[in-house]
Amino acid sequence: MTDKLTSFDPATGEEIGTLEVTGPADVAATVERGRTAFAVWKTTSFAERKRLVMAAREVLLAEMESVANLISRESGKPVAEALSMEIAPVLDLMQHFARNAEKLLAPRKISIGLYALLGRSSKVVYHPLGVVGIIPAWNYPFSIPLGEAVMALMAGNTVVIKPSELTPFIGLKIVEIFEKAGFPKDTVQAVTGGGETGAALVEAAPDKIMFTGSVATGRKIAAAAAKNLTSVVLELGGKDPMVVFADADLPLAAKAAVWGAFCNAGQSCSSVERLYVEAAAAEKLTKLIVDETMTLRQGVGVDEEVSVGAMSSERQIKIVEDHVEDFRRAGAKIETGGRRKDETLFYEPTVITGATNEMLGMSEETFGPTLPIATFETEAEATELANDSEFGLTASVWSGDRRKARRVAERIEAGTVTINEVLYTHGIGQTPWGGFKNSGRGRTHGAEGLMELVQPQHIHENLLPILPDAWWMPYSANAVKTFRGFATKFASGSILKTATLAPQLLKRIFELRKKN
Ligand code: NDP
Repeated sequence: MTDKLTSFDPATGEEIGTLEVTGPADVAATVERGRTAFAVWKTTSFAERKRLVMAAREVLLAEMESVANLISRESGKPVAEALSMEIAPVLDLMQHFARNAEKLLAPRKISIGLYALLGRSSKVVYHPLGVVGIIPAWNYPFSIPLGEAVMALMAGNTVVIKPSELTPFIGLKIVEIFEKAGFPKDTVQAVTGGGETGAALVEAAPDKIMFTGSVATGRKIAAAAAKNLTSVVLELGGKDPMVVFADADLPLAAKAAVWGAFCNAGQSCSSVERLYVEAAAAEKLTKLIVDETMTLRQGVGVDEEVSVGAMSSERQIKIVEDHVEDFRRAGAKIETGGRRKDETLFYEPTVITGATNEMLGMSEETFGPTLPIATFETEAEATELANDSEFGLTASVWSGDRRKARRVAERIEAGTVTINEVLYTHGIGQTPWGGFKNSGRGRTHGAEGLMELVQPQHIHENLLPILPDAWWMPYSANAVKTFRGFATKFASGSILKTATLAPQLLKRIFELRKKN
């Protein structure tokens, strides 16, 4: 008997649908089909890949309203965010990689320094990897796997997606979009189920795994992937610090903090999870934030006037409750919010003051609608507090003094630091995305992300294949003298020094020719 998986709307508890769990043998067979499809897909031209990705864009545009509705119902997020934070950015990513992948992956001549004087030339060409397994989280269930799939396909790979068990129908929708666009059979497939299905996908030895999720699962996947030497990109958790100096535009910073902390009900890996404000501006900024927070409407996401939706699961809301309870116990003050609405998955947007880095909700990832605020006195203290975390995904610095803001930004240990801006750069497919420290390994998006999906091949050519190389056998006293010259002259990188080696080099080459 096959296991079933039922998906629910977290805002209403309504059932969205039931589907079959893909068992381990079927997961392995899916990867094998992907491998067969790869043999043909890798030979397609960039023009053909572009045509198909642009066709998939058209399918998505035509179905945009129903896709936004599905994203909202299955994940609980407002339809406004399904459009602004998932569909619009991924449409941009699709056109960007469709139009630019060929240029980004064009063969590249490498400058090889003085080896060129020996008539040598080097270039790098990029080959696809094979089957890319994509294991995303439920929080951006559409844009993350779809964006990664487009990048993998443009690079010439085929794709198998294992959507989260909380959002399986969105995963299936992605496959449907590619099918409707006319992609060849098995170039994009999905397997459905929970963590065991994800583990089976890793076990089935795809050629790369793009994982988005928690640090704990990331560790398990890296360990399991090591068995087959499968390389893995890990996009893990975050604890985004927002550093606000007193000379910042405080009303703007307050609005940004509210959006950064509460969009997607705080369930973004780059959510503002800690706000550090210069003590002199703390009272004013806090009041602006609290006032703004109290204007937000919370409710079922398909209502277009709703700003904050439901959380995704009971497990997630429990973490938020624990962290807020710990803030209370430790003496922080709940300025607004701080509770769940009855027995639902709605947690009120919560602003907390008097937070310190010792509190649970300032060190562990909360992944919910909380905005704890702490204060600092000096620039050095602000940087130290921001860096006092196992995570390093994103951060922001707010100041009217750009030089100071840039200085602080470069001292913060995070994969992305924004200045007078917050959270949204995952939406820019052109820029690299990934974390320092426990926030991840590798990158997605940007040229760096595309490079994760190919293997470079070095082609080296001897343009004057008439003479033996001076370092070939047999060796002799003359050879050793030449090699000393290589070490002291050629390896210096100086043409002038190397020129003085020419007579010795010729002597050695004639010696080799004579011995033939
Ligand atoms: P999880 O780590 O629980 O799950 C992520 C994915 O892995 C899901 O599809 C899950 O399946 C699957 N999975 C679970 N166990 C295994 C296993 N043993 N082998 C293979 N796959 C497995 O994360 P969450 O879904 O709770 O996501 C939240 C986390 O994701 C947060 O920490 C957040 O910060 C992070 N995240 C990071 C982003 C980034 O870009 N850095 C972006 C978005 C989120 P299932 O759900 O069915 O159990």
